[in-house]
Amino acid sequence: MSVPLIHIETTPDLPQEADVVVIGGGVVGVFTAYYLARRGVKVALVEKGLVGAEQSSRNWGWCRQQNRDARELPMATKSLDLWEKLAEETGEDPGFRRCGLLYLSQNESELAGWAKWRDFARTVGVTTHMLSQQEATERGRATGRVWKGGVFSPSDGTADPSRAVPVTARAIMSAGGTVHQNCAARGIEVSAGRVSAVVTEKGTIRTRVAVMAGGAWASSFCHQLGIRFPQASIRASIMAVAPGANDLPDALHTAEISMTRRSNGGYTLAISGRARVDPTPQQLRFIREFIPMFARRWRSLAPGGLEGWRQGHETLRKWRLDAVTPMEKVRILDPKPDMKQIRLTHSRACDLMPGLRPMAISNVWAGYIDSTPDGVPAIGEVESIPGFILAAGFSGHGFGIGPGAGHLIADLITGKPPIVDPRPYRPERLSASAWGRVADF
Ligand SMILES: Cc1cc2nc3c(=O)[nH]c(=O)nc-3n(C[C@H](O)[C@H](O)[C@H](O)COP(=O)(O)OP(=O)(O)OC[C@H]3O[C@@H](n4cnc5c(N)ncnc54)[C@H](O)[C@@H]3O)c2cc1C
Repeated sequence: MSVPLIHIETTPDLPQEADVVVIGGGVVGVFTAYYLARRGVKVALVEKGLVGAEQSSRNWGWCRQQNRDARELPMATKSLDLWEKLAEETGEDPGFRRCGLLYLSQNESELAGWAKWRDFARTVGVTTHMLSQQEATERGRATGRVWKGGVFSPSDGTADPSRAVPVTARAIMSAGGTVHQNCAARGIEVSAGRVSAVVTEKGTIRTRVAVMAGGAWASSFCHQLGIRFPQASIRASIMAVAPGANDLPDALHTAEISMTRRSNGGYTLAISGRARVDPTPQQLRFIREFIPMFARRWRSLAPGGLEGWRQGHETLRKWRLDAVTPMEKVRILDPKPDMKQIRLTHSRACDLMPGLRPMAISNVWAGYIDSTPDGVPAIGEVESIPGFILAAGFSGHGFGIGPGAGHLIADLITGKPPIVDPRPYRPERLSASAWGRVADF
C-alpha cells in the first residue's frame, strides 16, 4: 500500500575516483548526474536507499509554471522543455505529458490572485487562460457543479513519479556514469581548502566536486561540515485509487481536493498544502528563520508528533565517518501517513468527482517536503568549502523543476552558460531574513 515505484539495477562496484560525486538519487541528483554524464564528465551518484524512493516518487507529478514565483518561473519553463525531450533522448519513458493543468474555484479573491499571476506571466511569455464561469463549469463537468471561474495552463504537464527518476538514472549509466544504491555518503574530506573525497559506507571516492542533493537530509549533512543550511520539512499525506474512472480531468486543483491521472490510469488524490509539522531538533534550531513561512501557511498546517524525531533526518547529532550513520539506519524516509487526512481526502474526492466512488484505494503514503525559509531552492557552491555544491530545499516544487535544476548544476560545474540565471538560488542568501521574501505560491 506504500508509494508506487519501479526498482532498477544499478552499478555494483564503487569507483575509486570520479570528476563529480552526486549525493542523493532523487530528481535533483539524478538529473544533475544525467546532464553531467551526457557531457562526458566522469560522474558517480550515490543513493543511501533506492533511487527515487523519497520525495521524488511521493509527489503528485505536477510540472507546472502556473502560479510559480517569479524567481522559479524561468527554471519551470526550461524544465518543461527538458521533460519533453527526455523520452527521445534516453529511449526511456518518464510518463511526461503536456496535458495542461486545470484550476477551478468558487472564491473571488482566489480568482483575482490567479488573474494577477496571469498578467505577470504574460510579461515573461508564459500563456495561461483565465476561465469564465461557463468555461470553468464546462471543463469541470465531471464534478457536476457550477464554478465561478478557473484557470487552464495548456503548456504545463505531469510526469509519472513512480518511474521518471529511476528511468533517468538508467540513462545516466547508459551515458557512462555510475549509480550506486544502498550506498550512503557519510561525509566529505577536505584537503588544501577544497573537497578532495566523498566518504561512503562502501568506500571513499576521490573527487574535487561533491553535489549534496540529499533532499530532507541535506541540512543535517551540512551540519557535519559546519555549514548552516536552514531547512525544515513538513509531512504531507497522499493516496492513489485504482484505474477505471474515465472522463475525469488529467490534473485538477480545487480548494477541497487536487487530483492527477497516473500513467496506469489511476488517480493520485491530495489536499493541497495540507500537512503536519513534526517538531525536530533541527526545526527548533531554525524556527526563527521559518516564522515568515509558517505565518503564511499556518491555515493548512497542523501540529504533528514524534515521527520526524524518530526518522532522524533532522538530527543535530554529529556522526563519525567510520561508523553507521542515521542515513544507513533509515534507508528510505517513509513516514506514517495521517489516516484522518487520508479519509478526508477520499471522501472529499468522491463528493467532488462521483466517478471516483467505485475505485478501490490502491496506495496510501506520506512524504516529508523539505523547504527553505523563502520557499526557493538553494543551488550553488558553498563559499566556505570550494567544490561542495548544495542543491536542496526544493520546497514542494522540485519534481517539476528537477530537470532544469540538474541542468543548471551541470552548467555551473562544467563552466557552460547557465540554462537560467543562478543568482536567485545562491545558498548565501539564506543568511538574510526571509521576511517579505516567501514565495507566493
Ligand atoms: C506529497 C508531495 C507532493 C508533491 N507534489 C509535487 C508536485 O506535484 N510537483 C513538484 O514539482 N514537486 C512536488 N513535490 C516536491 C518534490 O517531490 C520535491 O521537491 C523533490 O522530489 C525533491 O527532490 P530531491 O531530489 O531534492 O529530494 P528527494 O527526492 O527526497 O531525494 C533525496 C535523495 O537523497 C538521498 N540521500 C539523502 N542523504 C543521502 C546521503 N548522505 N547519501 C546518499 N543518499 C542520500 C535520499 O535517500 C533520497 O533518495 C511534492 C512532494 C511531496 C512529498
